[in-house]
Amino acid sequence: QQLETTKKIQKLSIDVINRISAGEVIQRPSNALKELIENSLDAQSTVIKVTVKDGGLKLLQIQDNGSGIKKDDLDIVCERFTTSKLQKFEDLRKIETFGFRGEALSSISHVSHLKILTKTADSNCAYRAYYADGKLAPSTAGDTIDPKPCAGVNGTQITSEDLFFNVPARKKVLRNILEEHARVVDLVRKYAIFNSKVSFILKKADISTPDVFTQGGEGTTEKEVISLIYGSEIAKELKELSSSNDKLEYKMTGLFSTTNLSSKKPIFILFINNRLVDCRNLKLGLEQLYTKYLSKGAYPFIFVRLSLNPRNVDVNIHPTKSEVRFLYEDQIIELIQKVVDTELNLSILSKTFPQAS
Ligand code: ADP
Ligand code: MG
Repeated sequence: QQLETTKKIQKLSIDVINRISAGEVIQRPSNALKELIENSLDAQSTVIKVTVKDGGLKLLQIQDNGSGIKKDDLDIVCERFTTSKLQKFEDLRKIETFGFRGEALSSISHVSHLKILTKTADSNCAYRAYYADGKLAPSTAGDTIDPKPCAGVNGTQITSEDLFFNVPARKKVLRNILEEHARVVDLVRKYAIFNSKVSFILKKADISTPDVFTQGGEGTTEKEVISLIYGSEIAKELKELSSSNDKLEYKMTGLFSTTNLSSKKPIFILFINNRLVDCRNLKLGLEQLYTKYLSKGAYPFIFVRLSLNPRNVDVNIHPTKSEVRFLYEDQIIELIQKVVDTELNLSILSKTFPQAS
């Protein structure tokens, strides 16, 4: 029997490479939307309006009132590794804005039909541009690729249509439109809470009542937004707690439900350095703690804002930037647990001795 001859090693074409990496950054509509919302927040927007069709697969559109994109930047804005936010590798360590790799728009342009409509305050008109595979593209066959002047308000509107039209395998996996829509709603809700001063609107393209609608405004608190979104029964049982340690370089503030609340499913929302992330260990560590106080099948509501020295956070372990690891994780989790534990103990005591003050 003859062995199969070894195949020749070949370099992949740049388009194939880019499409593969795009699929890693953008795995479903909610990943794309997260990147787009972060861009809008980075651009100092105070109103962010999202419109979706088929859970974001058919249409994902985000309109903001932020800084806008300069006309001269429109030709490279969707190329891979183009960003206005990061110049040197070293900057990664102290990055404060959400985006940092200049990959989001590029990725979206590789796996959908992307259109940008944008206007900066100092321009007297808006510009509209279409993109394919990271580059400017004609809107229809025969048209030129140049950005076209048009009417528009200050800010940016990004429209992604037919997500994964050219990645059939991915599209097949995402057949559950209801689930994709639910993920989009969940994402917008969490950003709306954390950015309580920003107005968020999420709606389906053909339905006028929004799925999420927050007013924003300077005085709006996170608790008010939680009340609006999750209900006043939850909001009224939330206690603001904090914990910090200079040596471990962290500062935590958060809203934790008391033992009076027994939610049917756990809600855990975590922002580290202003970024919505997952941290399995912290989530489990806190939920575990509540099992001591809640009956079986009852769960807490937990909203945590954690500030860490950016040098201590590894945001780059996953292409979608969702799961985060950080230095002193165990010690920090333990200290946070302690604060919450103390509070829950107190709340049990006050239930047992309601007269005590
Ligand atoms: P990154 O956010 O990592 O810089 P992106 O691909 O997400 O990379 O965006 C590329 C660049 O496009 C950003 O650096 C920013 O200058 C510009 N940009 C993207 N979205 C917006 C927006 N909504 N408003 C203003 N500028 C934007
Ligand atoms: Mg970005």
